[in-house]
Amino acid sequence: MVTALCQALTLEQVVVDPDITASYSRDMMPLAPSGRPLAVVFPLSTAEVAAVVRICAAAGVPIVPRGAGSGLTGAANAVDGAVTVVLTRMSAIVEIDEGNRLAVVQPGVINLDFRKAVESAGLFYAPDPSSYDWCTLGGNLSTNAGGLCCVKYGVTTDAVLGLEVVLASGEVLRTGRRTVKGVAGYDLTRLLVGSEGTLGIITEATLALRPKPAAPVTLVAAFDSAQDAGRAVSGAIAAGLVPSLLEIMDATCIRAVEARTGTQLLGDAATPAALLLGQSDAGGEAGRREMDRLEEVCLAAGATFAYVTDDLAEGRMLLQARRDVLPALESLGTWLTDDVSVPRTAIAELIVACERIAQQVGLTIGVVGHAGDGNMHPTVVYDAGDAAQTLAAQQAFEMMLDAGRALGGTVSGEHGIGRIKQRQLAAEIGPLGLEMHRRIKQALDPQGLLNPGSMFDS
Ligand SMILES: Cc1cc2nc3c(=O)[nH]c(=O)nc-3n(C[C@H](O)[C@H](O)[C@H](O)COP(=O)(O)OP(=O)(O)OC[C@H]3O[C@@H](n4cnc5c(N)ncnc54)[C@H](O)[C@@H]3O)c2cc1C
Repeated sequence: MVTALCQALTLEQVVVDPDITASYSRDMMPLAPSGRPLAVVFPLSTAEVAAVVRICAAAGVPIVPRGAGSGLTGAANAVDGAVTVVLTRMSAIVEIDEGNRLAVVQPGVINLDFRKAVESAGLFYAPDPSSYDWCTLGGNLSTNAGGLCCVKYGVTTDAVLGLEVVLASGEVLRTGRRTVKGVAGYDLTRLLVGSEGTLGIITEATLALRPKPAAPVTLVAAFDSAQDAGRAVSGAIAAGLVPSLLEIMDATCIRAVEARTGTQLLGDAATPAALLLGQSDAGGEAGRREMDRLEEVCLAAGATFAYVTDDLAEGRMLLQARRDVLPALESLGTWLTDDVSVPRTAIAELIVACERIAQQVGLTIGVVGHAGDGNMHPTVVYDAGDAAQTLAAQQAFEMMLDAGRALGGTVSGEHGIGRIKQRQLAAEIGPLGLEMHRRIKQALDPQGLLNPGSMFDS
């Protein structure tokens, strides 16, 4: 089979050296199971992807699609003996169509590179995961990634018009459209988005763009408790505000970022228990009014400090602090970030639950998240060299998901299920929901070769 792969691609595109293939075994989730790929391949075109899939299908060998490996669920982790198909070299922005406000891209384009390219055409691509400077659009599509702008613009699926996908048979399927509206047939595009590489390999996508938003007005508000900050979020929603971003960081996260950057986020003021960062991209006076109203809501919820600025450098600095949280937590130990989405009125309760869980397991849990859409990333910090702490971290991870579901939430707002949340997915969708997943998988991948073991046991 490896000989066939080398004939279909070039020798340089097929790697079997175990020292190199080992580095494609895992993504950024430390606790998910992983195996050793037999080979790692780097196709350059849809035809090459199709050839690889046909060769693997003939040999009955599992196929694991992979982007940048920044995922947080083990979804791109290899299984033993698999061929890992790395899409990063298919990185062309094929077209930016300003008249129809859309773009056609290959899956290996880095999210930030794409954002910059469309911005130079006066347009905007909304999905902006915090990892946007290294994750790929193919990974974003396959995990249905979210980010900081979701509160106003939704997740990746809300920006997808159509896909080109290599199916498990090696056939190339085109789904969707280039039109604004279009309801013909089953919505295969949305079935494939978020399918974590279990139904096909995305080789091209048609993405909807928006007009470039106005320069943002930014709010920062400090609170004596994370619960007060949670109440401010519910208050903002109840007041009818639709900020373009509304993020929360607790004291653990703030201190970690301050230690990493060597700056005090709020100058000489003492580190608060929680910060809310809000932005409006409504433009000019409208943006200012929206953030002034958010400031009032925060003060009414008990904020000890609130400040609104239209200074772009200040806004960027505050946002960068938020994006730096996960790397900064690394200075405290290994981090294990959760992804739990609750109704926005339940944010304060989720935060309280996370504090209780931290005490129960005896570990630090930093609370950070996209508060405006209820998608929280409570992050456990632990010593990966200590077996008891590792077990406690895993328990905390599960308990926070259970707490989210008990509050009417879901076990993934944006990271997906991968190899770490399968029990939780099964509990959320129930036996019939799981059976529907299995039947769809069986219809599209009867040999079960595409990313086996990810999302659910097929
Ligand atoms: C510091 C940090 C911050 C993050 N912040 C966010 C955030 O704000 N929001 C968010 O949603 N995520 C976030 N993530 C998680 C991660 O960046 C996203 O899940 C991202 O979408 C993964 O992209 P990737 O290119 O790294 O894909 P990978 O991790 O390589 O793969 C992810 C999944 O997609 C599949 N896949 C990849 N490419 C293809 C393809 N072409 N066809 C079919 N399947 C494919 C893989 O099999 C796997 O199932 C963060 C991660 C880190 C490390």
